[in-house]
Amino acid sequence: MQSFPQFDSLPFKNVENSIEPLFSLSLQQLEGVTARLSLEPYRSRQIWQALYQQRVSSLEEMTALPKSVRELLGQSGFQVGLPRIAQAFVSTDGTERYLVTCPDGETVETVWMPNGDDGELGDGSDAAAEDAEANSATAGEQAEPAIPYRRATICVSSQVGCAVNCQFCLTAKLGMKRNLTAGEIAGQVAAVLNRHQVRVGRDRINLVFMGMGEPFLNYDNFMAAVHLLVEGMGIPESRMTVSTSGILPGIERFAKEKLRPKLALSLNAPNDSIRESIMPITRKWKIDDLLVALREVPLRPRERMTFEYVLLGGVNDRLQDARELSALLRNSGLPAKVNLIVWNPGPDIPYRMPAPEDVAAFQQHLIASGVPAFLRRPRGRDIYAACGQLKRTVE
Ligand code: SAH
Ligand code: SF4
Repeated sequence: MQSFPQFDSLPFKNVENSIEPLFSLSLQQLEGVTARLSLEPYRSRQIWQALYQQRVSSLEEMTALPKSVRELLGQSGFQVGLPRIAQAFVSTDGTERYLVTCPDGETVETVWMPNGDDGELGDGSDAAAEDAEANSATAGEQAEPAIPYRRATICVSSQVGCAVNCQFCLTAKLGMKRNLTAGEIAGQVAAVLNRHQVRVGRDRINLVFMGMGEPFLNYDNFMAAVHLLVEGMGIPESRMTVSTSGILPGIERFAKEKLRPKLALSLNAPNDSIRESIMPITRKWKIDDLLVALREVPLRPRERMTFEYVLLGGVNDRLQDARELSALLRNSGLPAKVNLIVWNPGPDIPYRMPAPEDVAAFQQHLIASGVPAFLRRPRGRDIYAACGQLKRTVE
């Protein structure tokens, strides 16, 4: 199995006083831990349940284990190691942005959107159908649902910073600091679920891997996190969407996964030349090659491939761009849908927002030509939580 490194290959330090986070380990790896500590094999499943189903924050909370076992774990250098929400910024629209601290003190950002951002609409999934139903129930008003978080979406980071250098994205300005571990990726979700006392199963939680970083440049840890989230925490992979800037080898690997979230490609341009000017990575992998790779990704019944398209005023938002985009997608032979995102401004980024009438014309052209197109609602702009604004802003 490619997703989990073997226990022996984990970077255990075994140095006195060094701390190893348990929240990150697969069941198989926990079996390695219990064997190493000469504990009964069934203890590994108890630890697994405490970590991922109960989402405990400390060894003391693992009450299914006798005190002696908890103490042995602690003395052997293990801790739960769940990432911690260090700061929370609350938007007027209900969105919350968190600075999450990892065990080594590095911080990433995670966003909680109580009513989603309409990103699921029209992709043919169960999550999309439920979103549409909830939207029609609250159409035209910002009604509070009976359970405030019944269809919340969590936006998860996969790296500290990002190496891809898209010209319109604030995260790019950080550069690439480091990859997140599987535990740090899944742990963001656990920390946020704990904060909002979410019960997986009762509440409908969607996950989007659209925070800081490029998930397919941290492929193994990202997929290991998906396994923890699905098999450990019980969140179905059909409620998860991973977005990639177009890392071709990552898409090819992803196409072969058994446990597969929905996929979105950040296309952002109708042709290679515009795309290259805003996403230099296009020099490496061309749109046509990305589309060929996407065709190999199996879709569930009724599922559509999502293409994200950030509208930059005067750059890619003209009617001729909409025409070219619609032709590109129709000729791709893929069941496609487009998520339009109005560019969120940031300091020192030399673009402008598109005019509202251009956004409307762009969307209408796509729809009229047979390409479903949805406008993502910007969430939490006032707290720098919207797409592309994540750069650990503390102000
Ligand atoms: N790195 C991955 C996932 C994180 S970015 C990717 O690029 O797909 C998530 C989405 O935010 C991408 O579609 C990206 O194009 C978009 N985005 C980045 N900066 C933005 C900005 N300033 N305004 C609006 N959307 C932005
Ligand atoms: Fe990285 Fe995505 Fe931002 Fe591009 S848009 S720099 S890939 S986070």
